[in-house]
Amino acid sequence: MLKFIRLSAVTVAALFLVGCGGPAQPPADVLATTSIIGDAAERIAGGRIRVDVLMGPGTDPHRFQPSAGDLSRLTSAKLLLFNGLHLEGKMTDHLEQTTNGRAVAVTRDLPLDKLLLADANGGEHDPHVWFDVSLWKTCVGTIRDSMIEKFPEHADAFRANAAEYLAELDALDLRVREKASSLSKERRVLVTSHDAFGYFARAYGFEVKGLQGVSTGAESGTADVSTLAGFIATRKVPALFTETSVPPRGLQQVLDAVQRQHGWNVHLVGDHESLYSDSLGPKGTPTGTYAGTVLHNIDIIVKHLQ
Ligand SMILES: [Zn+2]
Repeated sequence: MLKFIRLSAVTVAALFLVGCGGPAQPPADVLATTSIIGDAAERIAGGRIRVDVLMGPGTDPHRFQPSAGDLSRLTSAKLLLFNGLHLEGKMTDHLEQTTNGRAVAVTRDLPLDKLLLADANGGEHDPHVWFDVSLWKTCVGTIRDSMIEKFPEHADAFRANAAEYLAELDALDLRVREKASSLSKERRVLVTSHDAFGYFARAYGFEVKGLQGVSTGAESGTADVSTLAGFIATRKVPALFTETSVPPRGLQQVLDAVQRQHGWNVHLVGDHESLYSDSLGPKGTPTGTYAGTVLHNIDIIVKHLQ
């Protein structure tokens, strides 16, 4: 068995070295569109199969345009895991038309009454379900089930790994709840670049406002900027939060409008304190995992709204 693994590794390395003309990477067993889905698949796989992620750190899935290389990775993977609520705006048709059960929408088992509606620009439902950790657990169960169906030889290991991960997510949910409860109700107002935090708001008792809608596909107009600026000044919101996958210029305009038109001094939270919304950080860093970003986000939110 060990010999076999070593041989496969050599084959894999050889494929890498083929370079031009040859495939840049061997086909993935599982290809996840976003790093958030990929993180769950990796935990369940536990190194037994190859899990790849299509979109790298900081990529905005709403605007992601697959290259020819991406399309060939999508075609060659044995199992595709995607959000399924139009998160991958430009790829939705391609993913939904993939047949033979090869593409699985990880949100497929969520009850309809648990889904939030999207704005006019973002499809029917808000796709950012992972911000409610308890809701994301259902998606992790779907990821587990679809991996077991495709790779039944690893069923026992996948079940055990998923059970361990789901227990960790229970503890994570509790921690977020505790940290959120350290803020008084009137302090729990979260203003971000786009409307990614609706499920977070519902789960942990916040009110949220995004400059852009549920999808970043539509540019915000000046009316949005001045409406949001008025809201921030009226509610005396102390901080605005940028996101790692959305350029901060829109929120900077809001900040300028708040200060100029309302004389209210609001703080823009950015750089290393930006919130992780639709993408995880680089692998091997504290925010390279889903749990790491959830904790980062709640710590930063509490710190700046206190
Ligand atoms: Zn988003």
